[in-house]
Amino acid sequence: MSTIESTRTSPPAAPLLSVQNLAVEFSTSAGVVRALDGVGFDVAAGETLAILGESGSGKSVTAQAIMALLPKPAGSIAGGRILFDGVDLAAEPVARVRELCATAIALIFQDPLSSLNPVFRIGYQVAEPFRRRLGMGKREAWAKALELLKRVGIPDADTRINDYPHQFSGGQRQRIMIAMAIALDPKLLIADEPTTALDVTVQAQIMKLLADLQAETGMAMILISHDLGVVADVAERAAIMYAGRIVETGRIREVYDHPAHPYTKGLLDSIPSAAAVGERLKPIVGSPPNLLALPTGCAFHPRCPFATEATRTTVPELRHPEGWEPGHLAACLRSEKVLPHG
Ligand code: ADP
Ligand code: MG
Repeated sequence: MSTIESTRTSPPAAPLLSVQNLAVEFSTSAGVVRALDGVGFDVAAGETLAILGESGSGKSVTAQAIMALLPKPAGSIAGGRILFDGVDLAAEPVARVRELCATAIALIFQDPLSSLNPVFRIGYQVAEPFRRRLGMGKREAWAKALELLKRVGIPDADTRINDYPHQFSGGQRQRIMIAMAIALDPKLLIADEPTTALDVTVQAQIMKLLADLQAETGMAMILISHDLGVVADVAERAAIMYAGRIVETGRIREVYDHPAHPYTKGLLDSIPSAAAVGERLKPIVGSPPNLLALPTGCAFHPRCPFATEATRTTVPELRHPEGWEPGHLAACLRSEKVLPHG
C-alpha cells in the first residue's frame, strides 16, 4: 500500500525560518541579562507558530532578534543562528537585515497608534510602501492602498482613506497596521500581541482576519501572545516560553489537550474561557524569576507544585516524554509522573 510518505519523491522543503540555539543578552547597570538562552524553532512557509508565555518570558526579544530590532547598544545576539530563506540573519549586518525585513518579514504589534503618524491621512501612510519600495506613482499607490483597506475590512474605505489615525477605533487601527504589513507580500508576518489592547470580540475578528489573509497569501506567521486562548484556533504549532527558554513545543491542539510541562498546565488553567462558568481561575502562584539570579535546576521549580530535589538541581533539556505524540517536546524531568498523558 502506498502512503504519502513512501511516494514522496523529494525531501520536505527546508523551513522558511529556522532559529537555532539563539542567545540574546542585555548589558544593564545590574549586570548582563541573558534574555534568551538556547531558543530554537522552525516555521515552514504557510505555517503558523504561536509563541506563548507569561510577560517577561522572552517573546518580544525573540521577535526583535529576528528583525534586528534589539535596542542598541544594550542588546545583542550572543550566539546561535537565525536562518531565513537560507541567510543567517544573526551573522548579517543590522542594516542588511533591516533592508531584507522591509519586504520579506513584516511586524505588527500591540499599539498601532505608536507606529502610525498622527498628522498624515491613512491613505498616504498605507500607500507609502508602494511609493517608496516599488516606486509607484501617487495615484497608483493610492489605488493600491484603497484596495488593501478594503481587503482588511475597513468599512467605507473609499471615504475613510482620507481620515487620520485618531478617527479610527483600536480594532480598525490594527486592521490598518495589518494592511501596511501585508502590502509588499511578506513571506513571514510576526504579530506581537496584536490584539492585547482590544476587547474580546474584536480580538477574535482580528485573529480571523490574520487567518484569512494567510490562507490567501500563503505567508508564514508567528503569533506572539501571553493569552493562550486567543491563538488557539489560528496556530498549528506552539512554543511555550519561560525565563528565556522554550519549555514546551508541539502541535498546538496536543499541547493544549496534553500539556507535558506544569508551567503550560498552569497557563492553560488560567485562561478565562477555559474555566467552566462559576469555576475559579487558577493563576500560577508566584512570579517570573529575575534573570540576573535564575533559580538553580529548572527555572520554574520555585513555582512548581511538583518540584523535587532533582528538579531543584538539574536543568531540564527539551525531550520527548514517553506516551506523547512525536514532535511534542517538554523541558520537564517529571512529565510522565505528574501529568500522565490520558
Ligand atoms: P515578553 O515575553 O513579555 O515579550 P520580553 O521579550 O520583552 O518579554 O523580555 C524578556 C526579558 O528580557 C525581560 O524580562 C527583561 O529581563 C529582558 N529585557 C527585555 N528588554 C530589555 C532591555 N531593553 N534591557 C534589559 N533587559 C531587557
Ligand atoms: Mg512582549
